[in-house]
Amino acid sequence: MTTKDAKLVPQKAQKTSHTPMFEMVRGMADVLPKDQGWWKLLWQTGHAVSELNDFHFIETPPVEPAKMFLSAAGVAEESVEKHLYLLKAKGKGGEELALSYSPKISVLRSYLEHRLAYFASPLKVFYLAPVFRRIEEFPEHPGQFHEWGFQIIGDGDPLYDGEIILAVFDFLKALKLKQMVLKINSAGCRVCRPAFKQRLKAYYRNEKDMICRTCEKNIETNIFAIVHCEQEQCKEVRQNAPIVLDYLCQSCNNHFKSVLELVEDNAVLYEPDAWLLPENDYGTKTIFEFYVPQYPFAIASGHRFDYLAEAFGGRVTPAMNGALGIERVIEAMKLQGLVPHPKEKPRVFFVVLGDQAKKGALRLMQLLRAGGIAVVEVAGKKTLKAQLKSAERMNITIALLLGQKEVFDGTVLIRDMSSGAQETILAEKLVEEVKKRINK
Ligand SMILES: [Zn+2]
Ligand SMILES: [Zn+2]
Repeated sequence: MTTKDAKLVPQKAQKTSHTPMFEMVRGMADVLPKDQGWWKLLWQTGHAVSELNDFHFIETPPVEPAKMFLSAAGVAEESVEKHLYLLKAKGKGGEELALSYSPKISVLRSYLEHRLAYFASPLKVFYLAPVFRRIEEFPEHPGQFHEWGFQIIGDGDPLYDGEIILAVFDFLKALKLKQMVLKINSAGCRVCRPAFKQRLKAYYRNEKDMICRTCEKNIETNIFAIVHCEQEQCKEVRQNAPIVLDYLCQSCNNHFKSVLELVEDNAVLYEPDAWLLPENDYGTKTIFEFYVPQYPFAIASGHRFDYLAEAFGGRVTPAMNGALGIERVIEAMKLQGLVPHPKEKPRVFFVVLGDQAKKGALRLMQLLRAGGIAVVEVAGKKTLKAQLKSAERMNITIALLLGQKEVFDGTVLIRDMSSGAQETILAEKLVEEVKKRINK
């Protein structure tokens, strides 16, 4: 930068560089370069597991009709509404819009909209998507996180519940997580669930004075939310509450048994959990979560939702989903002392001397990259000494030097960074020569 250029930089921007004008919205997440290793590991593992299990890629938009999430929630509409990020802009038909609250619902919407049943039956898809949930009562709680989901749509066979659970399990196992425990339950179906709900309501009406105010309100509006309450008095009352397993119909009972057999056959450690019930109305039959002992939250979860397609105006279309919370999985891995492989360091450094050499240098670097060789440069630094110092700091194996003379001669100077030995080679032989040296 010349002195003249320097004057163009507003002084204020330089002075206040520690207090940027705009900050990230509270609760949202920047994924930073320092975490690249984690994300790369998760992408690669996720893709490998998805491919082995024959799941296809799907991506749905981060903005959807708000009503879609609300109607999916059914009786729990109120509890979903307060967590939606509603947008000021409206859809083309004037409908209210929200940031994606639940990608699995978007995936089902997409399935119905694009008639994906014609693509495959059942359809097996995976996605990596941001999830947005506004949680005002807990400012420390993230309002945005990412999930890697597996979803099978179009078949209600328990085999597919097993496939989803095992895909999630394989993913966690491939990440080398240990001591995973699967918590599992059945939420029943529309045949058997109403009786259980009535029984649960009756029980809690009797215990009304013993539970917290929120739970008391939930008795009539959202009974399943009660079993999730963490208040001590409510947990105590819960101990004697009726459990869903005593109310399952024959079909749900058989379904649950088959899923447990599949899980057991594949050596997944599991614990039936009678209080694992869907917070939203659309969860049916199998519901599960994965935990590790070192971390208090579920690192993965999922459930079946066989009637949602119908509620969206489609035919009865059974669906099963399981998803890993990416940020939670990374936390759990850290607590188990796992680390991703560090990013592979480039071993070739390009020293560019003088403006005339820049063009030629870029062409040669492109040739090296096309030959599969990662190469770095710090052309912003002017002197040979400064550039070589950067190369030393990066632990580079060989440096390539290109100045005006080399450009003119069609050569490159190649320098062994550990011995300091230098040799002139023909530019056209560059890729070959570099490969020889870094592979020895
Ligand atoms: Zn049932
Ligand atoms: Zn409570």
